[in-house]
Amino acid sequence: MSQYPDIFDLRNWDFTLLKRYKPVFSKPNKTCHLCAMGPCKLTPPAPPLLKGGDDGGLVRVGSGRVGKCGIDEKGFKAREALLDAVIGASGHVSHAARLAEDLINKFGKDCPVNMGSHTSMPTPITTLITGCTPKNIGEFKDILVYIEGQLIHLLSSVNFGTEASPEDFVSKMLHAGMLDNLAMELADVAQISAMNMPKGESNSPLVTIGIETIDTSKPVILIIGHNSTVAHEIMHLAEDRGLKDKIEVCGLCCAASDGARHSHGFKIIGNQASQIDVIKSGIADMVILDTQCIRADVVEEARKVDSIIIATTQETALGLKDLTGKSPDEASEYITRNGTGIILDKKKAAEAALKIVISEQWSVVRKRKEVEKMRSLEDEQKLLTSHPLNFSTSGLLRIGRGPIRDSEIRGVAPSIIMGDIPGIVGIFGCPEERQGSGVRDQGSEKPIPINSDSDV
Ligand code: SF4
Repeated sequence: MSQYPDIFDLRNWDFTLLKRYKPVFSKPNKTCHLCAMGPCKLTPPAPPLLKGGDDGGLVRVGSGRVGKCGIDEKGFKAREALLDAVIGASGHVSHAARLAEDLINKFGKDCPVNMGSHTSMPTPITTLITGCTPKNIGEFKDILVYIEGQLIHLLSSVNFGTEASPEDFVSKMLHAGMLDNLAMELADVAQISAMNMPKGESNSPLVTIGIETIDTSKPVILIIGHNSTVAHEIMHLAEDRGLKDKIEVCGLCCAASDGARHSHGFKIIGNQASQIDVIKSGIADMVILDTQCIRADVVEEARKVDSIIIATTQETALGLKDLTGKSPDEASEYITRNGTGIILDKKKAAEAALKIVISEQWSVVRKRKEVEKMRSLEDEQKLLTSHPLNFSTSGLLRIGRGPIRDSEIRGVAPSIIMGDIPGIVGIFGCPEERQGSGVRDQGSEKPIPINSDSDV
């Protein structure tokens, strides 16, 4: 296999896989809006003698309705699927690049890759794809540049008048998936190494979970997103300044899981699906956002309950004012007065957050909202515990243990392959939001039965 493979390096192998495994495109959409010549309504191959074409697309007799650019229905659906794959991969790649940048700024480019003693191969995916085994996190930059370049080529294939073959679109989706996995490994190895997260040891620590575990008599800082550096900065700054027992730092979603991996006093209070309920409860005095899984109405809802918002990434700016160039004092003053602001420097954001939540000025606001907050928190707890998924179950959760040990995978690989011992399939994901948090438009186009899509 080629090192740093380009799209064509694995194309033949992808086609071999496609002969064996048929792809499924589950999106029900049949109308293309990609370019200014559209919209075009596309249909699968029609019976011979079908004629028409006066409502958008052209009709080829016997071959279904195609777009004005000539793309057929299978190509259109495969193209949409490639776009989805590139969007998803871009989220992880962007996160990995921003996280690596933050960690290099904080710990230096020579910060060693350290995945502990339980694995002899610290970066298995990276080594397989690139042929190199990075020794420090500074070396991740070149690999991320490779991934970013490949993603641009994949995105360009989605462009009007470029790729048309369903098989090639799917091959490119597999390429996007490979890049996505590579970026995810880099992000996790960087944070495990730099922030000394668990490295495969047994009995990783237990942390408290559940909204009920928050002491609302203290200022509450809630972190939502994926970039674990802001939680790291806040926890360390609070400790350095003797504020650790005077504030509550908690999180939702991935920011929470990763925050708890480096700081065991960090509380996980819910997942992405409970985001709007937690925000509306007013439990948070301060909400820190980074990127991904952030609800579009988070600023509006947070401000209704007097929660302050600090956004920390360029990807999720939400129309807020950028205060990165201001001093922590100036930024804090602006945010206290206006309720929102962006600070891209995570250390400065942490300083501003602490400064605000322990300030005299903010304690007046806190007192004003305290009664209301307690009442809404009670309602919220009832609401969450009545949910079928019971978001609010408090208890203990074992934090992510880090890399799989050699003894758990490579040492037993022959036995797993030969079927002597069972393998494990893990299926993970976030629960769906409860009814009433948003309305999903089912649209007029019905989902396409899987079988009709399975013959690319
Ligand atoms: S890309 Fe093709 S199918 Fe899509 S809107 Fe443009 S012309 Fe129509």
